[in-house]
Amino acid sequence: MISVKAYAAQSATAPLAPFSFERRDLRPDDVQVNILYCGVCHSDLHQVRDEWGGSMYPMVPGHEIVGKVAAVGTAVTKYKVGDTVGVGVIIDSCNTCKHCQADYEQYCVEGATGTYNAMERDGVTVSQGGYSSGIVVKGKFVLKVDDRLNLSAVAPLLCAGITTYSPLRFAGVKSGMKVGVVGLGGLGHMGVKFAVAFGAEVSVLSTSPSKEADAKRLGATNFILTTDKEQMKQYGSYFDIILDTVSANHNFTGYLNLLGLEGKLLVVGLPPEAPKVAPFSLISNRRSIIGSMIGSMKETQEMLDFCAEHNVVADVEVIAAADINNAFERLVKNDVKYRFVIDMNTL
Ligand code: NAP
Ligand code: ZN
Repeated sequence: MISVKAYAAQSATAPLAPFSFERRDLRPDDVQVNILYCGVCHSDLHQVRDEWGGSMYPMVPGHEIVGKVAAVGTAVTKYKVGDTVGVGVIIDSCNTCKHCQADYEQYCVEGATGTYNAMERDGVTVSQGGYSSGIVVKGKFVLKVDDRLNLSAVAPLLCAGITTYSPLRFAGVKSGMKVGVVGLGGLGHMGVKFAVAFGAEVSVLSTSPSKEADAKRLGATNFILTTDKEQMKQYGSYFDIILDTVSANHNFTGYLNLLGLEGKLLVVGLPPEAPKVAPFSLISNRRSIIGSMIGSMKETQEMLDFCAEHNVVADVEVIAAADINNAFERLVKNDVKYRFVIDMNTL
């Protein structure tokens, strides 16, 4: 067994605290990764605080992992010791269903296995995530990372990056389209960067007036304060696509009304309570709501390669592991620019 250091939550109300546990010895198809950086996703906070229900403790969160290969199993040929790699939101799937066969592991019919807070496919091990010094993962769920990039800023690509890249690609975002991004946080700021990189005219829809200058710096043309009724009215039926990354409870209707003919609301935010939808706002302009969950391993690699080619990385605040509880408090207050990333050397 491989001993690792970590930060873990012991219950929904306890702060994260130092924790030690064992990773499994390598199976033939496994890769062992020494973790350098792990991003702090709002999903970590939702699950630590059991906001979605069913959380398991102790819980080591973290699914935006970048590190170096420390060892490989006997059957692994794709990676060697010292390679720079990433691990994202899923670490396994059934590998045989029609979705897995079609490179949609994230939509595995049996359910893909989460990097933490999930029962692994052996039926007894609860997965533990990246707020730790190392992880052992099946090679198929390990991604190649170009080490010419700033690795702390690459870590968030493994969740915030792919979760915004995938729906924007699915919706065919390109030059000439008007795209709105709701919520300028970890996912939102990546959504802006990708939509700009794909050539769209991008608007940020935010509750935080203080984020206007950053929105423009990230490439947005317009900044819309969603609490201002006049501004919202002005953009009625304006957008082709709106990407909703909001983590808190909210209502879809106000955003739907901003979509033009056959406009699409792409939903990736996962608030604790189900958002309300007014059917009249949906039938007007034949609008639709489309959900999207992370991306496949193939598409995640495509996204990482796109980022390396176009020099797209996250805007990060690198923190020490001991600062994680403070970072969670700031996340709840929308006070992050724009992703916290833990430096695992501080564990
Ligand atoms: P985050 O960094 O905290 O950003 C969320 C943003 O939402 C905030 O910065 C804020 O932006 C906005 N917001 C907060 N409260 C709001 C409210 N009451 N009304 C409107 N906007 C509000 O969170 P994140 O890490 O980007 O994650 C966002 C959500 O995506 C979370 O629910 C997370 O669990 C989910 N997620 C989904 C997937 C997936 O596969 N679909 C993957 C990862 C994460 P402004 O200050 O600009 O308003
Ligand atoms: Zn995430």
